[in-house]
Amino acid sequence: MGDIAGKTKEQWVEEFPLIQELIDLKETDWFNPAVLPAKEGLAKVGLTVADIDDAAARLKRWAAYLVEVFPAAHRTAGILESPLACVPNMQKAISERRGIDIPGKVWAKLDSHLPISGSIKARGGVYEVLKHAEDLALEHGLITLEDSYAKLNTPEAREFFSQYKVAVGSTGNLGLSIGIMSAQLGFQASVHMSADARQWKKDKLRSHGVNVVEYESDYSVAVAQGRKEAESDPTAYFVDDENSPSLFLGYAVAGRRLAGQFKAYDIVVDEDHPLIAYLPCGVGGGPGGVAFGLKTVFGDNVHCVFAEPTHSPSMMLGVLTGKHDEVAVQDFGIDNLTAADGLACGRPSAFVGSRMQYLIDGYYTVEDDQMYRNVALLAENDDLFIEPSSATSFEGAFHVVQNKEYRERAGLTDEKLANATHLCWITGGNMVPEKEMASYVSKGQGLL
Ligand SMILES: *Cc1c(COP(=O)(O)O)cnc(C)c1O
Repeated sequence: MGDIAGKTKEQWVEEFPLIQELIDLKETDWFNPAVLPAKEGLAKVGLTVADIDDAAARLKRWAAYLVEVFPAAHRTAGILESPLACVPNMQKAISERRGIDIPGKVWAKLDSHLPISGSIKARGGVYEVLKHAEDLALEHGLITLEDSYAKLNTPEAREFFSQYKVAVGSTGNLGLSIGIMSAQLGFQASVHMSADARQWKKDKLRSHGVNVVEYESDYSVAVAQGRKEAESDPTAYFVDDENSPSLFLGYAVAGRRLAGQFKAYDIVVDEDHPLIAYLPCGVGGGPGGVAFGLKTVFGDNVHCVFAEPTHSPSMMLGVLTGKHDEVAVQDFGIDNLTAADGLACGRPSAFVGSRMQYLIDGYYTVEDDQMYRNVALLAENDDLFIEPSSATSFEGAFHVVQNKEYRERAGLTDEKLANATHLCWITGGNMVPEKEMASYVSKGQGLL
């Protein structure tokens, strides 16, 4: 009775009073004093720069194929990368609304505009499917590493892949990425969708010939069902969002690409010019992988902070208690119901929490209404249209600026913050149907 990873709820709250704020659904933050210098923290991840090199090289091998099959990948020559945008009007708007100055410059990383699925999942999700397809194609002699992978865009190759299944459990965006990419290659794709998943995502997948299985329950159940179905079938491959090194590495490639974009805009990241990245977090793979990539490139000069809904602070709970996937928000009576459908993961990834905890500076929570307000403000001020999940990233700068204890520990003095680049990771939005997007914006306007 009431047993949460060996303790009662009351015992947990007594040990970590912050948990009461989470239970009360208050917007709050926690900056982890156990964070280590980048070098030490990276040594605990169990993956290396060589692993990211390998993932980047694999994505490059697939570029010729992606150009052939996705018109949206033409302009980037088959490299799935997103624009970087300075959002000075948004910076002013959010700072005026809160009455707090944000020193430095606010930028947005527009993964909302990634080809194929319009979300950060086009990094990890697409990568994992491509890796699986490459493994099969190499093993069966369809290609060699030196071939142009455009060769795989033939009826014969699709026929070959159609003997195999790919399955995944998702709140929506991961399913879109995995489903669209798998179906394009010829795989039989099954996407197990949690109750949060928006109808348009299911419709879109079905239009691509993907088998969509719907659940009345949340993400963990959809994942468990997908995993179970795939286990009993030797031709099936399950993309395990809660534990996948492949997904993680696909996300991590973002770090080195960003370094190139920064160069183009003359953005300096060094000891006197910190980079602070605000990453919306669901189960943790996306933000965890990106943070890993950023840390390998920028080391101690980048500070990664995760954003979660007040209704689903799973990663914060997992790291704070040290129990990772042994605790779920529902254990504490938190309902996991939020407009941020991409972040509605009640139980965090153990893979990410245990490996990345020493490299993530902090965590903060955001109310749903605040997400809608930010969606509206960004649309009005900088003409960018994003999902509520993504809008959590704009709240991070306040938490950093106001937290003296953390700033002292991280060496973020007034002088350094004045030179800071605040990078708000915009994790999704471009494929949301116009009518649905208009309803997000008008809801936000009504709240402003
Ligand atoms: C999936 C998702 C995230 C977070 O990624 P996780 O791997 O679940 O932590 C953030 N934003 C959007 C829009 C997403 O779809």
